[in-house]
Amino acid sequence: MIGMVGGMSWESSAEYYRLANELIRDRLGGLHSARLVLGSVDFADIEALQVTGRWDEAGALLAETAKGLEAAGADLLLLCSNTMHLVADQLQLAVGIPLLHIADVVALAVRRSGQDVVGLLGTAFTMEQTFYRDRLAGHGLTVLVPPAEDRIEVHRIIYEELCLGVVQEESRQTYREVISRLVGAGAQGIVLGCTEIELLVMPADSAVPVFPTTRLHVEAAIEASLSTSAPS
Ligand code: GLU
Repeated sequence: MIGMVGGMSWESSAEYYRLANELIRDRLGGLHSARLVLGSVDFADIEALQVTGRWDEAGALLAETAKGLEAAGADLLLLCSNTMHLVADQLQLAVGIPLLHIADVVALAVRRSGQDVVGLLGTAFTMEQTFYRDRLAGHGLTVLVPPAEDRIEVHRIIYEELCLGVVQEESRQTYREVISRLVGAGAQGIVLGCTEIELLVMPADSAVPVFPTTRLHVEAAIEASLSTSAPS
């Protein structure tokens, strides 16, 4: 049973839920659907802690949610936000079940496709702090981030639009331009390192392959759950 720590935002958690069920249906057929538990937090609480740098408190809140999922029978945890992997260790320490780290999943997918230089799009926290870039670099990847002006716009579109379910052509165009500058700087692939970006950006928006973190995260979890369980 997969445990999802979600709500950050619920727009992407809904994708996690949909994708998990679609993948199980595709793999097992018939009426099979995903066995999962979802702990969904109030994103306004998390965002307030993010902007004031109170990461420990945010981590404690998510750790409580994770413990609840473990108590509910989850065997594997997904933290449904790239940004909140800043507190992944705090979550992992709070539970006895494994947390499937989103950056590890993505890095393995990039390596499998034979690339080693990627552009990273995400929140300012993800693009600017070290927790995510270093994790990718630990897998042998070179990580490029957009210049400051582009980072501000990429971040703004996430919080002011995508997390509120607003998907606009103008913002897609902005992302296309940011991506093309990253490709010009040498990126061989683009990590959509925020779980909402794939609601906006499609493979056709990029001249190089994109790595959608929500989809890859769910695929890895389903793979893990099917390899350890005998379906009924
Ligand atoms: N879902 C986002 C991510 O993957 C951003 C929202 C958040 O700050 O958690 O980073």
